[in-house]
Amino acid sequence: MTEKRRVVEKGPALKKNDLIVITGAGGFIAGNLALYFKNKGFTNIRAVDKKPLYEWYLHIPGVENLCLDVSQEDTCRRVCEGALEVYNLAADMGGMGFIERFRVECLRSILINTHMVEAAYRAGANRYFFSSSACAYNTQLQQDPNVRALKESDAYPAMAERGYGWEKLMSEMFCQEYWAERRMKTFIARFHNVYGPHGTWDGGREKAPAALARKVVEAIDTGKKDITIWGNGEQTRSFMYIDDCVKGIDLIMHCDELIATPINLGSSELVSINELLSKIEKIAGVKLKRHYDLAAPRGVAGRNSDNMFIKKVLGWEPRTPLDKGLAFTYQWIKAQYEARKAGKRVGVG
Ligand code: NAD
Repeated sequence: MTEKRRVVEKGPALKKNDLIVITGAGGFIAGNLALYFKNKGFTNIRAVDKKPLYEWYLHIPGVENLCLDVSQEDTCRRVCEGALEVYNLAADMGGMGFIERFRVECLRSILINTHMVEAAYRAGANRYFFSSSACAYNTQLQQDPNVRALKESDAYPAMAERGYGWEKLMSEMFCQEYWAERRMKTFIARFHNVYGPHGTWDGGREKAPAALARKVVEAIDTGKKDITIWGNGEQTRSFMYIDDCVKGIDLIMHCDELIATPINLGSSELVSINELLSKIEKIAGVKLKRHYDLAAPRGVAGRNSDNMFIKKVLGWEPRTPLDKGLAFTYQWIKAQYEARKAGKRVGVG
């Protein structure tokens, strides 16, 4: 097979005082992304989220924080003004419990990307990033816990996760056409479950690692010593630590070979939910009695990230071992739980 390389004019590198816009920055990944760029020495970062500021997970000194709703066209124009790079991570989302129940809310996130990509284009931004998801993949390929890892071409023929997954697939297409038709460089990463500190850990939108870590903290605190798992615990997933995610976003956004080309950004370390819980129990030094809620949302039977493409193009893949990332995450959630119990105001989701 002959490899087709796009011929793209290479733009000048981003200067440290060029404006970077990040949406969804009151949330988990975008908040950590703003911190990542700040730590890299960028001095002109505009962070945007519709949540009130006191609910943001991270408040980064020197970053411009705007509480605005980017599903509105006018707001997106204001947000993108002067931006050289735009990272759109805002979305109404959560774990399986949320995306299976609130499909309309998930679909309505199409407004966010539709207006943001247009506003970035009008502002003359050099690069635009969209956070897609493994939920964009054909669900029929994910019916077995012993899954074959999903490669980028598995999104078509399309049979995405209802609601959330279809919104991602459609928004990917917007990004691809803004390159094909209007020559704005767009970049699309399909994240596979991301976890780590400064993320949602309670309130209904949390994902499996955070939910299980919180339940373990609760079980220890209340002395009840039991835990409820959604489904039979045999469903499998891979989980990417947040530090790998923000580094991957940076690498993808600045690789011209990846313009308008969806790419997996995920770990390929597959575990069952039962194994995930065992790892958290080990970190916490406890063994709990397990109950299984077979009526609860559990998503597809199995999902893993095929990292052939990312390794080939970037010579890199997310590699933080799950045991290591979970230890940091557990300690952070425990501290949040204790702070809330002590009457302090903490963000949950
Ligand atoms: P998050 O819920 O922590 O952050 C999303 C943020 O977007 C929230 O703070 C929310 O208030 C904000 N937001 C929603 N609608 C908005 C609007 N109209 N205007 C302004 N802000 C708005 O979620 P996250 O885990 O940080 O996810 C970030 C992105 O990555 C999302 O696009 C999500 O779909 C995608 N993603 C995440 C995962 C994961 O495992 N966390 C997996 C796949 C894809």
